[in-house]
Amino acid sequence: MVTRLVLVLGDQLSNDAAALKAADPACDVVVMAEVRAEGTYAPHHPQKIALILSAMRKFASQLEGQGWRVAYSRLDDPENSQSISGELLRRADQFGTTKILATRPGEWRLIQALEDLPLDVEIREDNRFIASHAEFDAWAEERKQFRMEWFYRDMRRKTGLLMEGDQPTGGQWNFDHDNRKAASADMLRPKALRFEPDAVTLEVLALVEAEFPNHFGRLRPFHWATDRAGALQALDHFITHSLPRFGDEQDAMLMDTPFLSHSLLSPYLNIGLLSPLEVCHAAEAAHTEGNAPLNAVEGFIRQIIGWREFVRGIYFREGPGYTARNALGHTRALPPLYWGAKTQMNCLSQAVGQTRDLAYAHHIQRLMVTGTFGLLAGVDPAHLHEWYLAVYIDAFEWVEAPNVLGMSQFADGGLLASKPYAASGAYINRMSDYCGSCAYKVGDKVGPNACPFNLLFWDFVQRHAGLLAKNPRMGQMVRTWDKMKPAHQAQVLEEAKGFLARLDAGEAV
Ligand code: FAD
Ligand code: SF4
Repeated sequence: MVTRLVLVLGDQLSNDAAALKAADPACDVVVMAEVRAEGTYAPHHPQKIALILSAMRKFASQLEGQGWRVAYSRLDDPENSQSISGELLRRADQFGTTKILATRPGEWRLIQALEDLPLDVEIREDNRFIASHAEFDAWAEERKQFRMEWFYRDMRRKTGLLMEGDQPTGGQWNFDHDNRKAASADMLRPKALRFEPDAVTLEVLALVEAEFPNHFGRLRPFHWATDRAGALQALDHFITHSLPRFGDEQDAMLMDTPFLSHSLLSPYLNIGLLSPLEVCHAAEAAHTEGNAPLNAVEGFIRQIIGWREFVRGIYFREGPGYTARNALGHTRALPPLYWGAKTQMNCLSQAVGQTRDLAYAHHIQRLMVTGTFGLLAGVDPAHLHEWYLAVYIDAFEWVEAPNVLGMSQFADGGLLASKPYAASGAYINRMSDYCGSCAYKVGDKVGPNACPFNLLFWDFVQRHAGLLAKNPRMGQMVRTWDKMKPAHQAQVLEEAKGFLARLDAGEAV
């Protein structure tokens, strides 16, 4: 007799998922479902869909090998109802049970769908993270302002990572002053590890090609790992070849090197093939064994036990309404260049082109190119949220939404970020090799060739002067604007207006 159906979602592919841990293979049935609704509620990048489907199929086989009974719905199964709720109802009927055991989904939309089911659904907290919801909420409760750095220190104390007793290794919590070097041609370019698709992945690639032909992004070549063994190989490759320079190259952007020393581990972490703690322990061991400097290892660990945990805490604490926030009142439609329409701005062309081809762009491309442009141009944050959720291989709402709405767009009014990430072209010029081959001139503040980031930056400062003047990290910008000659201010605003009008008209600006 079947006692319960155990739901395993496409981003819960781990034996440590709470529902699996609480279930019994002798009498419970695992339900896994490839459904159209999940592939299309946002127009996900084909590589993202392929990664998840291939990894689901392999995880299902692994579970069967461990003695689990798995009711697996393939996307092209004619009986597939094509939604998670529909498949749970169908399986409940098939196995004659009303009891569902689930690990809490990473998105309010799906949590709601499970809660709305006319079945007996038990949702267990997803404890594949370092901080529980209760822990984060207790931490947040005591503070007027949430700042990642303080939360991160608590996570260091909790995990013991890079700690000597109650003191941080090296006598400092944060070594960022040694990190984030400006772009330079001699930055080393470790070879990215490429996985050749096996039979399971090849079958999935053909399916994705047939079923989602109009989604933005190239499906092939597809070089991601789709099982735990591959993810572990990717981790090992990163620790050996890229971690030592992770800090130095963290913020640089080079045209011929999309990955630099980034880890490319986020998709594996986010779908459950790797755990955050094992990744951090591997990085710490590299330092202990003398293979990676402290600044790189500390910077990397901070991203995972600091930022990754912090944004998750905020997403769940703030509730389903978070994605609708728009503190700056921005309403511009998403410009077509985000979907690959031609643009003369080389930085955007590079970041979007890379996103189309690889379903990947690193943090600074997401934050300071596509993100900052959206912020300066006043794009509706909800549109940007939908775009980021769709186009990146690692995008799941619990991590994507706070990064986009909070960090990049200041749409939560400063709950997550201490200042809006607004910058002129000078930042991109320092951190990349994009500007040298751009149609615009990064040194021009006004005039026919002026870099649009320069125009839009001051337009943004002027539009939001009231708010920015009160911000300790942005107030100086407002004072600089106020000191500019009125004729220069008028020219900047006029040219910014003209640029935005051409952008709205769909011109290849
Ligand atoms: P690395 O640079 O090698 O960093 C190591 C790991 O740290 C990452 O794998 C990731 O797990 C973690 N990490 C680093 N920064 C963050 C962060 N800000 N928040 C959470 N985790 C972080 N990350 C996602 O996983 N999914 C998203 O949908 C996503 N959307 C983003 C949108 C915007 C606008 C911005 C600014 C950032 C976003 N990030 C997102 C965070 C970050 O850009 C990616 O985690 C990172 O680029 C993934 O590539 P990597 O594995 O090579 O990362
Ligand atoms: Fe981007 Fe301006 Fe540099 Fe061109 S000049 S690449 S638009 S920052």
